[in-house]
Order: sequence, then C-alpha cells, then structure tokens
Amino acid sequence: MEKEHVKCLIVGGGPAGYTAAIYAARAGLSPVLYEGVQPGGQLTTTTDIENFPGFENGIDGTRLMDTMRAQAVRLGADVRMGAITSADLSSRPFSVTADEKTPIEAETLIIATGAAAKYLGLPSEQAFRGMGVSACATCDGFFYRGKDVAVVGGGDTACEEATYLASICRKVYMIVRRDVLRASTAMQERVMNTPNIEILWNCNTQEVLGDQSGVTGARLLRKDGETFDIAVDGFFLAIGHHPNSEIFSAWVNVDSEGYIITDGKTSRTSVEGVFAAGDVQDPLYRQAVTAAASGCRAALDAEKFLISHKNA
Ligand code: NDP
Repeated sequence: MEKEHVKCLIVGGGPAGYTAAIYAARAGLSPVLYEGVQPGGQLTTTTDIENFPGFENGIDGTRLMDTMRAQAVRLGADVRMGAITSADLSSRPFSVTADEKTPIEAETLIIATGAAAKYLGLPSEQAFRGMGVSACATCDGFFYRGKDVAVVGGGDTACEEATYLASICRKVYMIVRRDVLRASTAMQERVMNTPNIEILWNCNTQEVLGDQSGVTGARLLRKDGETFDIAVDGFFLAIGHHPNSEIFSAWVNVDSEGYIITDGKTSRTSVEGVFAAGDVQDPLYRQAVTAAASGCRAALDAEKFLISHKNA
C-alpha cells in the first residue's frame, strides 16, 4: 500500500491534540489528527468544567471537546476517527500505522495521547469492571443513585469524585491507604463538610466482592491487621493515572512512570521532529487548560522545526 505523507501528524483527540491541530492548521501545516479510542479524551468523562477560561457559567466536558474539534476542522485540520497503533521513529519521515493497517509517513509528530486511570490490579476488580467497578464517577455515578458506594484514593480526584457521588448516593466510603489525604486543603474541606462521606483511614482493598448481579461490597485490610467488609454497589477507583506513551516509549525518552520527557519549556522530545503535549508529558498539572497550552507549544515547535528543515 502506498504510504500517505503528512507534514504534521497529531496523535490524540483531547485538549492538547485539538489545540495543536488548531495552531498547525492556521500555520498551513495541513495537520492530520487521529483521535484515538476515546475521542475528546478524559474530559468527555466529566460533566461541568468550571475552570476552563472563557465560560462564565462553566461548560460540559463533551461540549467543550466537540467545540474544540469543530474549530480545528473549520480551520482545515483533517480529524480522523481511529488510533495510531504502532510507530517507528528511528528516522525521518517517521513511519506510523493507523488502525493496525494504514501506513502513514509523517515529517513531524505531535504525541498528545493523554493518560488513563490506574486500577489496583486485583483479579476481582477486573472481574467486576463495568459491573460496579469504575474509574469514572461522573460517567457511571448516575447508576448508583440512592445507593452506597466506595471511592479508593485520597487525592484531588478521589475527593472530587466522592463529593460528586455524595450528591446522588446515600453513602460514600472513601478508602484511604494512609492516615492523611493527599488532596488540596480546599478539596479536603469539601469532603470533611459532606456528612454522607465516611473516610476509612489506613485501609487497603483486599478484594472486591460480588455475585452475578455485580459488586456487592469490598473486603478491606486496615493497617492494624483487622479485615472487614463493607457493603457497596459501586466501587470507584481514583488512584491516579498512567501516561499513554507505550507505543512511543521505545523511541522517545520517558521518566520512571512513562511520562514523555520534554526539553525545558518546549515540547521537544529526545527525537528531533517529535513533540509531546498534554497529560502524556505532564504528571503535575494535568488540567485541560495546561494541556491546551502545551498543544499550542507543540504546534509552534513543529512549525519552527519544519521551517528550519525545509531544505535539509
Ligand atoms: P494523585 O496521585 O494526586 O492521588 C492518588 C491518590 O490515590 C493518593 O491518595 C494515593 O495515596 C492513592 N493511591 C495511589 N495508589 C494507590 C493504591 N494502589 N491503593 C490505594 N490508594 C492508592 O492523583 P489524582 O488523580 O487525585 O490527582 C492527580 C493530579 O491532578 C494532582 O496534581 C491533582 O492535584 C490534580 N487534580 C486537580 C483537580 C482540581 O484541581 N480540581 C481535580 C483532580 C485532580 P498516597 O497519598 O498514599 O500516595
């Protein structure tokens, strides 16, 4: 099959990818963007986004992403459904494969593949995934209206999800492995001021309990050695994320957790012509607006690279 040749290939349809596409399109780079398995990215699993500037009354996550995509398309970006499934970045133009079958040659590559939720790794957790086990309270919380649920984790995400769930569920247990929360003071206060949240300190989950109808509870082990069960219908994970860098980590430098390492304030990776933006390179801020900003940087860096390598 003859390879398609693109100037600027963007991998990932979240705020970083779409923003990169907007800038690259305006710069005349004719960007092609593959949205990946979750078009719109993690924001589509959120309801109200109150902290993305420009929306006085907040905006629904899916709408924000639809609008960004439409803006990129209007400006000329070629936004495609599908995923980049493999890559060879050993020489330029880079060789990548879309959907395991379509070869593409790219002069520059912007990796904006985001991050995915972590799971505990328990077999019982796997067994009940989609049957009461979820890593997205805002997507699945609705199913547990008036019921009891548990949230694992003590960070900002866990606190946010616990307070959201508390507004629709009867009771929310937070399963926290230490005797402190990692979350910001403001989020901690929100949790403490929500009467139907109970924090189970110093607890780890041994097993998710259930039957053919789904999750019925969880078996917890406290640091003092006591094992006890709680009865819940929903079991939500909020223990952090891991970067979706697997396809590229054989080529570009990544840190111990797999986050792509970029050069200083730029989006440059260890491979010339390959740039990274958004959560796949950001273990720290992970906000829609910071992802969008880094997508902008990546497009500007790609443009600069293409200009300086025009006659190379
Ligand atoms: P964090 O890494 O901040 O927190 C993860 C939490 O999960 C910690 O409490 C951690 O415990 C716990 N944990 C990790 N692994 C396990 C495990 N195997 N078993 C049990 N518990 C575990 O992730 P978040 O997703 O909460 O936040 C990531 C970043 O995003 C942060 O910078 C956060 O501030 C930001 N964020 C900001 C929001 C906002 O501003 N509105 C909303 C959501 C996130 P321990 O503390 O013991 O390590």
